Amino acid sequence: MDRKMNMVDLKGQYERIKPEIDAGIQSVIDSSAFINGKPVQEFRKNLGTYLGGTHVTACGNGTDALQIALMALGLKPGDEVIVPAFTYVASAEVIALLGLVPVMVDVNPRSFNVEADEILNALTHKTKAIIPVHLFGQSCDMEPIMDLARDHGLYVIEDNAQSLGADCIFRDGSRKKAGTVGTIGCTSFFPSKNLGCYGDGGAIFCSDEALSEKISMTANHGQKIKYHHAVIGCNSRLDTIQAAVLNVKLKHLDEYSGARRRAARYYTEKFLQADPDGRFFETPAEMPFSTHVYHQYTLKIKGGRRDGLKDRLEKRGIPSMIYYPLPLQAQEAFKGIARAAGPLVCAQECADSVLSLPMHTELTADIQDYIIGNVLEFFGMSS
Ligand SMILES: *Cc1c(COP(=O)(O)O)cnc(C)c1O
Repeated sequence: MDRKMNMVDLKGQYERIKPEIDAGIQSVIDSSAFINGKPVQEFRKNLGTYLGGTHVTACGNGTDALQIALMALGLKPGDEVIVPAFTYVASAEVIALLGLVPVMVDVNPRSFNVEADEILNALTHKTKAIIPVHLFGQSCDMEPIMDLARDHGLYVIEDNAQSLGADCIFRDGSRKKAGTVGTIGCTSFFPSKNLGCYGDGGAIFCSDEALSEKISMTANHGQKIKYHHAVIGCNSRLDTIQAAVLNVKLKHLDEYSGARRRAARYYTEKFLQADPDGRFFETPAEMPFSTHVYHQYTLKIKGGRRDGLKDRLEKRGIPSMIYYPLPLQAQEAFKGIARAAGPLVCAQECADSVLSLPMHTELTADIQDYIIGNVLEFFGMSS
């Protein structure tokens, strides 16, 4: 292996688009419009178009995006918001931060995502909103979730930090971009996300014009006219330099998703050849209600051997990550703050068995062969 192996390869990706990126950044410096410059407005428009026509508010990061969404909906302290127990902390943290009650529900152990049945069981008269998280690159099954939300008058805020570019597929075969199905969609441009910038960034999608205006005001100190503050807001902006980077990278997003998908299929094909009955591990499931953009390639390791495999890979110079080692119900911070809807068995089982392998746009067959060979060798198989 000539290149040091990484979970993501941002350097290799940059090298292929260097002239465009460098020119974009330089032109921001030349203009001195570091805040709210033209590239920010262009990016809002470009992303809205990419998503099939929706209003986009740019903001500082994905966590802010979720917080601003909850603020703009006017939820009140004590209101309950349903969130999956197996997710990144940000999805639930912002709920608690605003004095709302996170209600943790279990996930489907194959898709890692929440489903309508679990949400239905968690409803009370205080439930006001649902935050489905499209984990690891795949959309939740949104059609039954939207039906349930309509029946019970609930807002739906999609946490699409990991699945930008995925299609949500409906029963009649029609499609919508993940993040544009619910009341509001949120995403992150953290460098390692599928559409990553070179620092922090985030965005909020909303097809309702009035609500979108409220979202933009909330992200900008509650003002529409400068120094006239209509609501209590916050200060969350996407820097112009980040917008310039994103305008270049957005053009490549579908190609990047394709590269991730190809790499994932290569892993899965080789793993299934060696372990067709899934005796040692489960490969990621591609669900019928979503395309998969493989933010992560996540195996579930059987027989309590996950940590042993991780150590072995590390010794061979192969990084791997546990997303996430603790489900929300086991996190200290949520004790006495969040409510668990049921025993959350699958969330715990996922936390105990998941292992994510290197996944990025620059993977080559020889890098993957080396990774695959070492995984199989650990289980006493050969590729
Ligand atoms: C990354 C991520 C966020 C937060 O994004 P930041 O830009 O890091 O604030 C929220 N939810 C999920 C599921 C994420 O993966």
